[in-house]
Amino acid sequence: MKGRRLLMIPGPIEFEPDVLQAMGQATTSHVAADFIEVFGRALERMRQVFLCPGGQPFVVAGSGTLAMDMAASNLVEPGDHALVVSTGYFGERFAAILERYGAQVTMVRAPLGAAPALDEVEEALGQRDFKLVTVTHVDTSTGVLTDVKGVAALAQRYGALSVVDGVCATAAEECRQEEWGIDICLTASQKAIGTPPGLALLMASPRALEAWRRRKAPVANYYADWANWLPVMEAYEARKAAYFATPAVNLVAALDVSLGHILAEGLEARFRRHVRIGAACKEGIAALGLTQLAQPAVAAHTMTAPYYPAGIGPEVLKAILEAGVILAGGLHPEIKGRYFRIGHMGSVSDGDILATLGAVERGLAAAGYRFEAGAGVAAAQRELLRGS
Ligand code: PMP
Repeated sequence: MKGRRLLMIPGPIEFEPDVLQAMGQATTSHVAADFIEVFGRALERMRQVFLCPGGQPFVVAGSGTLAMDMAASNLVEPGDHALVVSTGYFGERFAAILERYGAQVTMVRAPLGAAPALDEVEEALGQRDFKLVTVTHVDTSTGVLTDVKGVAALAQRYGALSVVDGVCATAAEECRQEEWGIDICLTASQKAIGTPPGLALLMASPRALEAWRRRKAPVANYYADWANWLPVMEAYEARKAAYFATPAVNLVAALDVSLGHILAEGLEARFRRHVRIGAACKEGIAALGLTQLAQPAVAAHTMTAPYYPAGIGPEVLKAILEAGVILAGGLHPEIKGRYFRIGHMGSVSDGDILATLGAVERGLAAAGYRFEAGAGVAAAQRELLRGS
């Protein structure tokens, strides 16, 4: 479509036409037989996408922050100790949410662009009895990817529950919830899951549900309380209707279509595609002489966070927009104005990466940055051809 801009931010992403068509269908009753079937199937597909056949899915109207809130409010009782492995803005947010429910929070942080070593996480875990450990799979403010498998294994060894914020990762970065022993994996619809914003998605292990059942204090958040939602999720999966609060009927229909696409591609192929596309974007950016926030060993495959070159600032994003691609500015409060972010997850294609690098080159050229024209596109193309 002429005049259409390519949306390449780390969420919301671009959505498949049939996902958007599902949104646009006439809204039906939330207890209609056809909706019960769609919701039930979406819940079954959630288990497959999260690679968690024994988990309990929750699909609730809200955003990723509500999914974090749901994990914290259902697991934390006042005075519980929680360990937060923070690699940026969203780790700090998790700490704030946990504290709101009365948790005593200990942070394990790393310098900007790095991830804490597992040794440091283990050392913290050895200090006291933690009820739970949270870790952000990809922190969208830094583009740092964490070793959630390693953190979950440590949590298990020390008798703590593990909670993974997969908002910028789930259905794109390798994650095997059940095999890796992750107790809660949560995300939002608008990222690699590929459904417009508006759904909080969460998968709880039997261990997490058990911890919730054993709690003494009531859940301090009425809307997020699993006591309200569990019967609803169980009913729809058994192809029966139940009501606590009106589900987002059109979004659930869209989610079902999108989860179907993810399963048709296959998770292994999907993880590989994100590795390949992520590498192409990073090679392209590096070839233009731009450095990146995340250290290469811990760089996400779902997004890239380049620093602006010397003398260039956020105004370059406007020139990139004029060249047809929407990118995001910085988010981490310490360096907000010094870097920008490119999202490449979900149904992103090879062509999207080449178009993005082309637009970045146009924007940089307009801002007076000197580089060899086409160097970024060529490097990305080489990487795509190598990996195809
Ligand atoms: N965690 C991470 C890693 C995120 O990227 C985001 C959103 N960018 C959130 C949590 C919060 O999600 P939402 O904006 O949908 O509330």
